[in-house]
Amino acid sequence: TELAEIINGKAFSANLRAQIAAEVAGLPYQPGLAVVLVGDDPASKVYVANKAKQTVEVGMASFEHKLPAETTQEDLLALVRRLNADPKVHGILVQLPLPKHLNADEVIAAISPDKDVDGLTVVNAGRLAAGLPGLVPCTPLGCILLLEDRLPDMTGLNAVVVGRSNLVGKPIAQLLLQKNCTVTMAHSRTKDLPALCRTADILVAAVGQPEMVKGDWIKPGATVIDVGINRVPGAVEGKTKLVGDVAYQEAAAVAGLITPVPGGVGPMTIACLLRNTLTAAKRLEGR
Ligand code: NDP
Repeated sequence: TELAEIINGKAFSANLRAQIAAEVAGLPYQPGLAVVLVGDDPASKVYVANKAKQTVEVGMASFEHKLPAETTQEDLLALVRRLNADPKVHGILVQLPLPKHLNADEVIAAISPDKDVDGLTVVNAGRLAAGLPGLVPCTPLGCILLLEDRLPDMTGLNAVVVGRSNLVGKPIAQLLLQKNCTVTMAHSRTKDLPALCRTADILVAAVGQPEMVKGDWIKPGATVIDVGINRVPGAVEGKTKLVGDVAYQEAAAVAGLITPVPGGVGPMTIACLLRNTLTAAKRLEGR
């Protein structure tokens, strides 16, 4: 069988970070990203450490704020407000999930929309929906950059987005609409999902169900973007492996272009966080 061409997100994101570093080097100021971590969730610690490392690598300032698990809502809000007012900080990211006693919605709402590099505030969701300049959530931005690179003109293509979360599915659908795709959003209540997926020239899976999208759900030659990151038992007992929301081997036998997991959308997320920080810095400093 003919195999789909692989969209290499690892290489693409490395290239994107190099471009960001080159642009940062030419700025008369240093963009700064503040990352707030509350508590000691091991996975969150790893993410935050990776973000800080890559931030410094592109020449930006990284401000890490590690707060104890018992931090109060008031103290966390006070920190966010200090960061909003700090001219050295152009991007603010509060690592989620927060400990249960804290109200994440209220904390996100406190972030200045112009520093909201995760694109999580209602203001940035509204800007995206209205087609106004704002800050777009990092993973959706990564998906659209990978697509733009391979499909410079998406006009009139049928795009199906499976998953409708505020963080992933909805913003991806908005971005595809901006690219003049005919967009259908699917979710857990969608009828005959396989048949709907077979209409897609661009199929985006952002579901959180390991290998749910099968090979016979895919239109021959379609472009498949797999956002899913699912940890499942591996071949060796006691070991786990990462799989996407798409059954990769069978999908790659039908699709024209496909993102692998790992190494597809995943590496784009931090690169897009840095890109958003650069975007935010240029807008804030340009005032
Ligand atoms: P959510 O759980 O918030 O949303 C999942 C969506 O999928 C919901 O809209 C849900 O529908 C839909 N869904 C669930 N089951 C089915 C089904 N059987 N058939 C059709 N639709 C279904 O997840 P996220 O959007 O946050 O994340 C999606 C995936 O992307 C996850 O695997 C996550 O790990 C990954 N991810 C990867 C990132 C990266 O690459 N860096 C970043 C963020 C997420 P309904 O609304 O009806 O419940």
